[in-house]
Amino acid sequence: MRELLLASQNPGKLNEMRLLVEGLRFRVVGPREVGIQDSPEETGSSFLENATLKARHYARRSGLLTVADDSGLSVDALGGEPGLQSSRFGGEGASDLDRNRLLLEKLRQVAWEQRAATFTSAVVVAHGEGVLFEVQETVRGLIAPELRGTSGFGYDPLFFYPPFGKTFGEVSRQEKDAVSHRGKAFARLRRYLASLEQG
Ligand code: IMP
Repeated sequence: MRELLLASQNPGKLNEMRLLVEGLRFRVVGPREVGIQDSPEETGSSFLENATLKARHYARRSGLLTVADDSGLSVDALGGEPGLQSSRFGGEGASDLDRNRLLLEKLRQVAWEQRAATFTSAVVVAHGEGVLFEVQETVRGLIAPELRGTSGFGYDPLFFYPPFGKTFGEVSRQEKDAVSHRGKAFARLRRYLASLEQG
């Protein structure tokens, strides 16, 4: 069975990515399983550029067909912050809880209808030196006034999704995947990977 490397060192994201490619005829591995401990510097100026940097880095290192995702939360009232810095918001050593608290603090004076935000996921497939596939998807929501729910990871307990009337922290993984940035991007990725299986 062909190996597929999911290029993320973030355990929450890696777990979601694993489940999203379940059932395809690939043996899925993470960077640590193939002895890659480092990650490239994310110097790109867009989610797609950073996903491409990561996919190419891990593909070169591993020699495997590699999927990388770059994602983040952009809050309208903060001029798109934390955006590309989503995983580093609040500095090195900050936890998900620290980042969520910082976000709440920054939005303390911001009214409910001005708390709109976008999750973005860019997904890139690379092999050797080449980029084979790329896709970007988004989901819009509002930043809740307090943390709600314990499912998911990262900013999920603060991401209120109006059609559900709940945050992503309050819904099942399947409910989130059906509408989320990463769920939609990976649905398109699955179709691409399935076409490779047939080739
Ligand atoms: P990166 O893509 O590894 O650079 O990290 C993206 C960061 O954005 C994560 O560490 C989370 O803080 C945040 N993020 C991205 N996608 C999600 C999501 O689906 N739920 C919650 N937080 C997310």
